Amino acid sequence: MQTEELLQILACPRCHGELTAEGGANETTGFACAACALVYPVRDGIPVMLLEEAVPLERWRASHPAV
Ligand SMILES: [Zn+2]
Repeated sequence: MQTEELLQILACPRCHGELTAEGGANETTGFACAACALVYPVRDGIPVMLLEEAVPLERWRASHPAV
């Protein structure tokens, strides 16, 4: 599924807010919630929308430099 489509159907499991895609133009590595400052990682092309798996935005940015 395309990132744009996923962004329309996915919501933050914590606040149910909108998400933004993380990663480069060709690959989405995660979906970020600005309100919660959390990133939900994409593993093997599948978004992991679990609060337990979410990475704090600050930590995510440190390990995933902007492309
Ligand atoms: Zn949220």
